[in-house]
Amino acid sequence: MSILLEKLKFGQFETFPELVHAVSPRCFENEQGEIEEFSFRNNSESGKAREHVKWFLESIGIENRSLFLVNQIHSDNIFVLDDPGLAFSEAGKISADALLTQIPGRPIGIFTADCLPILVYDPRLKVIGAIHAGRRGSEKSLLFKVIGEMGRVYGCRPAELVVGFGPAIGGCCYEVGEDCVQPFKELFPDDKGWLRCGPSGKYFLDLIAVNKMEGEKAGLLPENISSMDHCTCCSTRNLYSYRREGETGRILTTIMLRP
Ligand SMILES: [Zn+2]
Repeated sequence: MSILLEKLKFGQFETFPELVHAVSPRCFENEQGEIEEFSFRNNSESGKAREHVKWFLESIGIENRSLFLVNQIHSDNIFVLDDPGLAFSEAGKISADALLTQIPGRPIGIFTADCLPILVYDPRLKVIGAIHAGRRGSEKSLLFKVIGEMGRVYGCRPAELVVGFGPAIGGCCYEVGEDCVQPFKELFPDDKGWLRCGPSGKYFLDLIAVNKMEGEKAGLLPENISSMDHCTCCSTRNLYSYRREGETGRILTTIMLRP
């Protein structure tokens, strides 16, 4: 089996020419023709990480632009990038797990390794969003709150939003204890499609199923939600998994409105 070097993309997002987006694979081919791993780290200022971000952006056609990231803390904080004069380094000091913007030419992104990266787009009002939804963000209903915030700030209508779920640890691999599933039992008391019983009192949690339910509760239409359905933990050859590997690299999921 060959190593995946292509960026991952959502078909539905590709239908909008005003958008550029991608999810990074684990490896890329460098200028010497060698296979190298992307070495992104959260908020890393190291030269190599910065170089790799730049290289990745260039490879999807985003040149000479700084990537806007936030300080991810597994919260339900949402950062609205509405100041065209704000420097990317200032944005990086803001603790949040979702970014929204309507400003063209500002690539926004999030890093993950097992947590679920989500991209959101409003084709009518041209609003983009990037969300870091791990277990803790999901139990705080982060996606639901982002959709609400898009309505409040921009006037977005949930039924018009297009949403993509990137690669995350799947229900096949995400084994957790009772304490981790309890908040979801309270959120979804009548539907247990997101839960599977594992060995010795443990459970398997399906983050994608949980977020689909949160999205639909907020008014997303099922046909506007797409999922890459790659389990990070099953595919460490092509992606990064914190659960399988411990300290490891990150997957970058980014989106930009073309200027
Ligand atoms: Zn898996």
